[in-house]
Parts: sequence; C-alpha cells; structure tokens
Amino acid sequence: MYFRSTRSSEKTVSFKDAVLRCMPLDSGLYVPTSVLDLRQFSLYMEADTSYQDLVATIAPLLLQGELNPFSASRITENTFYFTPELQTLNDHCSLLSLYNGPTGTFKDFGLNFLAAVMEELLKHNGQATVVSAVRGRTGASVAYAFHQRHNIRSVLLYPDECIYGLDANMLNPNDGSLIPIQVQGNFNDCQRLVQELLMDRVFTERYSITTANSINVGRLLPQIFYYLYAFVLLKKTLHDALMFSVPSGNFGNLIAGLYAWKFGMPVHGFIAAMNRNNPFEHVRIDAAPPAPISTNSPALDITFASNGERLASFYEEFPAVMRNMVFPVAIEDKETTKALAELWDNYGIVADPQTAVAFAAAQNFKQMDVHVVILATGHPALEAEIVSQAINHTVEIPQRLSMLSSISSPIATIKPDVEALEGVLSRCF
Ligand SMILES: *Cc1c(COP(=O)(O)O)cnc(C)c1O
Repeated sequence: MYFRSTRSSEKTVSFKDAVLRCMPLDSGLYVPTSVLDLRQFSLYMEADTSYQDLVATIAPLLLQGELNPFSASRITENTFYFTPELQTLNDHCSLLSLYNGPTGTFKDFGLNFLAAVMEELLKHNGQATVVSAVRGRTGASVAYAFHQRHNIRSVLLYPDECIYGLDANMLNPNDGSLIPIQVQGNFNDCQRLVQELLMDRVFTERYSITTANSINVGRLLPQIFYYLYAFVLLKKTLHDALMFSVPSGNFGNLIAGLYAWKFGMPVHGFIAAMNRNNPFEHVRIDAAPPAPISTNSPALDITFASNGERLASFYEEFPAVMRNMVFPVAIEDKETTKALAELWDNYGIVADPQTAVAFAAAQNFKQMDVHVVILATGHPALEAEIVSQAINHTVEIPQRLSMLSSISSPIATIKPDVEALEGVLSRCF
C-alpha cells in the first residue's frame, strides 16, 4: 500500500516511510492511495473466523510487499491475545466491546499492532523515537505498547493534569526507553507540540522521531480489522443496513471505519458521536478552536481533532457520498448520564461514558431499517466514579486495570514551546 499527503498527490511513500517519517514534507497527513478490494475476503470469512485469523489474513494484503504473511501471523499471535466481543442488544443495536486489552481502551488494538510492526520494520537496522501527546490513562496505553521493544524509545507529552499508570518498571532511569514530560498547558498544546516537533526536519531526522498518535497512519490501519470483524459476525443475520456509532474525539476511529468502507466493507454510514466539545464543527475552519471544556465523557474532550484534515480529504474525494455517510451528533452531559442508566436498567450493561455518548447518539438518530453497532471504546472501570453515580451501582475494577489508578511523575516539566521540548530531548538522548 502506498500513501500520499492530504495536501498533494504528487509523491507517494511506502508504509515503512509513512510510519517512521509520519509527517509529509508539506505538513499534511498521510492517507492511503491504493483502492484495495477486500470484499472477496469478507465473503470467505464466517462468523466462526477468529479475530487472529482475520488479522493474519488481511494485514499482509493491506501491507503487501512490506509485511510478509509469516511475520503477520507472528505479530498477530503475540498481539491479539485480546479480541473484540460483539453483543446484540436487539434488532436495531449491537455493542462491539473493544476494551479487553491490557489498558482497557480500543487504543490497545491500534497501538500494540503498530508497535509490533514498527519493531519488525526496524529489525535489521535503524531506530525510532516515538513522541506522543497523551493524557489521563492513554499514556499508559502508549507506554505498555512500546516498552521493551527493540530499537524504540517512547516520549510522552502530557498536559497540566495527572497522568496515571506508568508502571515503575517501565520508568527505569537506566533504561531510558520511556520518557514522560509534563507540558504547562492543555492537551491541544501537547498535540500542537508533537506537530511542531515533526515539522522540524533536522531535529526529527537526527533522532528518528515519529509519533504513536493517530496522525500516524500506522495506528489507524489496524483499527480497520475490528470493523470488518463486526461485519463478518453480523452478515448472516443482518436484515437491515449496517451502521456504526463511533465515540469520537480526534476522529482516528472514525477514519479507520471509513477506510474499511473504502476497501469494500458494505456499510450504510457512521455516526460521529461527540460530546458538547464537538470537534466536527471546527474541522474545516482555520481559526484556532476554543480550549476543550470538561465533560462527563473526558476521553472526548477535544475541540481540535488531529485527524480533521484526513476527514476533510474524504469530503474532497467523495463530496456527495460523505453527506450521507457520516452523521455528526453532539451529546450533552445529561443525555450521557441518561444513556448510562438506560444501558444498565434495560440490558444490565455497565458501559463507559464514551460508549454512552455513542449509544445516545444512535438513539437520537432515528432511521428505519438500520442496525447500529455501538463501539464500546473504554472499560467502565476507567471512569468508575462517573459510571457508578449514573447507574447507582458499584463498578468493579478488574485486577489488570487497578495499576492504572496510580499517579505517575514526569522526568521534566516544560513550557508549551518546541524549543523547550527539543532542549529536554537533546539532554535525554
Ligand atoms: C481515545 C478515545 C476515544 C476517541 O477516539 P478518537 O479515535 O480520538 O476519535 C473514544 N473513547 C475512548 C475510551 C478513548 O480512549
């Protein structure tokens, strides 16, 4: 598969280049150029096809010439000991749980596969420094995926708030493969710093810098697999048109769904479910978006979506189709609380608030004859307080996620500017 910039179609690059030098020279974002047709493969797959088999079959097709089938199966086997789970609620609605991974969010699916593929790409030579903007518990997701990978070190930039769950073993000062840095600013500032750092070509080349944020297309491709998986599980019993409701912040997950569609998955549309921060409103506006406000679905507290430019490029490519393909819906906090209670009262489901946003958005979106798959992106235990208040029931915290509540400390605190960041990095490396 080849990739081009959202800002020009002149030059194409390989997957390896798109992953390891993740920002094109014109500072756009990489998008796939090839139009693959995966339809015949989804016809062969049955409801009893395992997630591992699906990934090990599709990944080498997507990355033909760059990921051989043997490496693909090895990576898949090592990575996907956790799998998505589909639960049908009624004729019109299913829930696809994507929080069974080591750190309890769907990000584990993209990050762990990306880290494993990156390690494979660097097997014979080279190294990578992965600089990512994180907050809350996503720092732990990135750290978990990248720690102890050969030839890779990971830098985490996080805002003026707490970050959780970096295991002390990962922070061995002699190892130097995980470097958490606190930025005196908000999450938008952290994302902007990553972009500015990637635009400094000299510095980026010197330290082989890339990112694990979803501006890296290597993070999005593995998210295609679970959309296909849901389709394969449902295809025999589905009477209605298929839609997905996607809790959306940076639109990485939504874009992955759109790639699945572009590569031949039959789907009627996607609901871009957001909270009142509504990043969709700011996608094609150049003015700086307002700072995010805090809501009860904190993983969606984003006003500037880092994948906005990819979303806009879909609208350029398929202007008429997109209006009937993506349906943005913004949900207020009280509707989120109500949806949490409804899922619990009617189905006995303890959902996380982001999932509740997607559920509420699907309910607001009344169309006949559709079956909506709600992406359950986070484990409810990660927002135990919000959830238990809404459903009036204690949320159990599984052992594997309990370490995610410990507060971690930075190795440095910096002003939100790129010189300060480069200064710290030069001293660390
Ligand atoms: C990151 C995150 C999201 C937002 O996903 P995007 O790909 O940025 O749109 C939704 N839900 C949870 C639980 C998350 O952690």
